[in-house]
Amino acid sequence: TLPKVAWIGLGIMGSPMAENLIKAGYSVTGFTLEQEKLDRLAANGGTVASSIADAVRGADVVITMVPASPQVEAIAYGEDGILENARQGALLIDMSSITPQTSIDLAEAGREKGIRVLDAPVSGGEAGAVEAVLSIMVGGEQADFDQARPVFDALGRTIVLCGPHGAGQTVKAANQLIVAVNIQACAEAVVFLEKSGVDLNAALDVLAGGLAGSTVLARKKDNFINREFAPGFRIDLHHKDMGIVTDAARNVGAALPVGAVVAQLVASLRAQGDGGLDHSALLRGVERLSGR
Ligand code: NAD
Repeated sequence: TLPKVAWIGLGIMGSPMAENLIKAGYSVTGFTLEQEKLDRLAANGGTVASSIADAVRGADVVITMVPASPQVEAIAYGEDGILENARQGALLIDMSSITPQTSIDLAEAGREKGIRVLDAPVSGGEAGAVEAVLSIMVGGEQADFDQARPVFDALGRTIVLCGPHGAGQTVKAANQLIVAVNIQACAEAVVFLEKSGVDLNAALDVLAGGLAGSTVLARKKDNFINREFAPGFRIDLHHKDMGIVTDAARNVGAALPVGAVVAQLVASLRAQGDGGLDHSALLRGVERLSGR
């Protein structure tokens, strides 16, 4: 029989991911802060828990998908939390994007409680979550990865054990660096093309077929053309991720000159009140710098 899953954090990513597990036949008990997301889980065949403790008791696998390190720590270490209430031998898979060090510390704390831990952040956005085609970058032990593999297969398509605890988060930090720089480059090209009077739709189509093509360009094309910035992936979260990658790079002595500039541009958007918009709104920053 399939393992019983507890799912903590049913946001833009967590809701469709949990639903994909239910579709694959898993019994999923969920907890999150918004009542409307709990109602959605129930409507899709999940069980609603009244607390984290209630969700994780009796679960074989606990999955967390929350915004950042402080939420993961609160959920894991609190009195009502996972480490106090999950059974010995349970597997905790944190799929949030957090600092590598938080993942390393969580694995150590789990070991003391007899709870195995994997860091397994994802890339592919809301569409990737809905379509179950996420890239899943995992850190931890091979045996735990092997045990989690069927769960990952129900959520994603490219699933790789990257190394020990924290390695999944390090790869995800690199992912966020590449995505932010790519969006910024596309946004600069969009403003340049429009100001030059070139048809944007035609230009982006032909660019997508050459070396300039990217998943960012394909997925964000309509956002750019229509100035449609409903998230998606919020600027606030990408700001968090640019902090993670710049800190981690400094720790190992890797230079990120372009990444550091893009981190500033993300921070600037937030400061101007755009933190709740999709990260394709980097286009707004370029427009402001270009005088429109
Ligand atoms: P979100 O804000 O939509 O969802 C976060 C969820 O966590 C919310 O439902 C909230 O209720 C829940 N939560 C927060 N604190 C909680 C607590 N103490 N107890 C229980 N639930 C709690 O965020 P999201 O876009 O789904 O992102 C989640 C994670 O995935 C983040 O780390 C993000 O960086 C990462 N991520 C997001 C995307 C994307 O495109 N949105 C893509 C890849 C990775």
